[in-house]
Amino acid sequence: MSKPIIGVLGNLLLQQDALFISAERVYSNSTYFRAVERGGGIPLLIGVGGDEADMAQVLSICDGLLLPGGVDIDPALYGEGPHRKLGAILPEQDVCWLAALRFAKASGMPILGICRGMQLMCVEAGGSMYQDLSLVSHDVLQHEQRLRRTHAIHGVTITAGSALAQVLGTHHISTNSLHHQCVRAPGKGWLITAQADDGVIEGVESSDGLWLGVQWHPEEMPESQPCMGQLFQNLCEKAQSRRNTK
Ligand code: MN
Repeated sequence: MSKPIIGVLGNLLLQQDALFISAERVYSNSTYFRAVERGGGIPLLIGVGGDEADMAQVLSICDGLLLPGGVDIDPALYGEGPHRKLGAILPEQDVCWLAALRFAKASGMPILGICRGMQLMCVEAGGSMYQDLSLVSHDVLQHEQRLRRTHAIHGVTITAGSALAQVLGTHHISTNSLHHQCVRAPGKGWLITAQADDGVIEGVESSDGLWLGVQWHPEEMPESQPCMGQLFQNLCEKAQSRRNTK
């Protein structure tokens, strides 16, 4: 039986090299690739560029979609100007990712959104963001951890009866945390399924559980929190079912 292909959306990277004028690159952290492979799928990096038709064509050879982490989302997409604590944004990347997300939703593909990926799923559905965690009205935990990515820093409570609880097999986990923004309102069609101990939204899903989003980085915790691998396994299983019916 052939494996499911999981499209992994690429990030743009602009960095200053030591010797030459900086090149712009398309990249993805390899931890996403290893996580998809361990979950039983074949990851396929999808570059930033092309139009909606190109995106539809490349996604049509995929069976599932992974929206990874990355830079901040352009606040214009949720009707706000840039707060002074907004980080780097790449509006052309937002356009490309939104095209991918809309195609995947319209064609009933399984989706896993991680960090920025989860945030974009909410913004696409009309949701909104806190541009920085300091804008949350109460004191929050440290979500920009200074620990290794493999280490957990805060607790997350998962809604009983949610697909996320079923996938992870638990109602409380410890997660890493590598974000300075968070979802304010999840947007139409998204159920909140996980919250940090300070109330920050850490998980959303569609009512049928086909689309899952988490704010933390499960791909960085394969050994420290083995249950995180089940998120990728679940994505690949759903993608395999879809592939079998093609
Ligand atoms: Mn967090």
